[in-house]
Amino acid sequence: MIKEKCPYVDKCGACHMGKTSYEEELIEKKGLVEKHIGKYCKVNDVAGMYYPFHYRNKVHAVFGRSKDDVIAGTYAEGTHTIVPIQDCLIEDAQASAIIKTVTELIKSFKLWVYNEDTGRGLMRHILIRKGMSTKQIMVVLVTASPEFPHKNNFVSELRKRHPEITTIVQNINSQNTTFVLGDKNKPLYGEGFIEDVLCGLRFRISPNSFYQVNAAQTQVLYKKAIQAAALTGKETVIDAYCGIGTIGMAMASKAGKVLGIELNKDAVRDAKANAKRNHIENIRFVAADATEYMTRMSQEREKVDVVVMDPPRSGSTEAFVKAVGSLKPDRVVYVSCNPETLGRDLGWFKKQGYVAEEAWPVDMFGWTEHCECVCLLNRSK
Ligand code: SAH
Repeated sequence: MIKEKCPYVDKCGACHMGKTSYEEELIEKKGLVEKHIGKYCKVNDVAGMYYPFHYRNKVHAVFGRSKDDVIAGTYAEGTHTIVPIQDCLIEDAQASAIIKTVTELIKSFKLWVYNEDTGRGLMRHILIRKGMSTKQIMVVLVTASPEFPHKNNFVSELRKRHPEITTIVQNINSQNTTFVLGDKNKPLYGEGFIEDVLCGLRFRISPNSFYQVNAAQTQVLYKKAIQAAALTGKETVIDAYCGIGTIGMAMASKAGKVLGIELNKDAVRDAKANAKRNHIENIRFVAADATEYMTRMSQEREKVDVVVMDPPRSGSTEAFVKAVGSLKPDRVVYVSCNPETLGRDLGWFKKQGYVAEEAWPVDMFGWTEHCECVCLLNRSK
């Protein structure tokens, strides 16, 4: 794969585009995974992307000012200085074009850009999500307050310039926080969510729900996870940290029944709607902390055959792993986006009698240092 040099590579810090070739990167990533979990199990070669450019279906930019100009970009690594970015090589190209237009519109409508230091101003961030199969596009405009001067004209001008946009949402984030999104969403145009098709199923995705950023590789990842779960049609499966229910639903036709556990209420609402829209009847979802819920299940001596878990970068908790230990599923399929916390958690699993068998890294985040991984654990008899 050719090297493509990104003009922002030394300033932005999000990835190292152009510093190595993609093939070298995959070898480095395997080494990284081996460093953290190699003592527990065999690590396979990293499944790389067919085309490792413009893969990100979720694109975020922060607004700022530079002299008289409005800029949109990313914070330089470890700072609050905005690096203006246009045409990022890993982000979706349509999303980049929309960000450019919104930046121009903010200027021409004379809207205030939010200033983090003073807490004044209106326009904070823009988040774009695209359904890679459906081509639906959601634009989320994050504002510091509910008022949005010239809202209707702004929205109609944006739609005129980008008829490909299927929904526009105003998200209100009045907190002085590093989180991009606040809790409140107001659809300004369209339904307020997009849909995408993954593993033959149709999913609804709301602004605050987690959805994997690389749709093509997500299918590779889920296929691996489904294979590792080795379901026969009878099993009771838990999909812990389930987000909008994608993994659990992709497994449901091969399982007896599935329970999805997820903390984010918006994601659970999406998950329930998704089960309905795909006519999947053997799955249910609860909005709960996975550790607390599974601890309770183990106290109530519920029977579970397979646990699939996909926690955030911070990994799971020892209490969760102990709850799995008492529920005694035959297998655990751990989907991890951070080999370091995966390594720590495999140590806890070992104490509970679970042996890591094999790991399959999948590159979801080309050119960055991050690596996703499916790891199969079996309960030692
Ligand atoms: N499996 C999903 C989502 C994985 S991302 C997918 O592949 O799309 C991790 C998810 O864990 C997020 O949706 C996040 O909201 C959720 N989460 C974080 N902490 C949690 C907790 N303590 N209990 C349950 N879910 C949690």
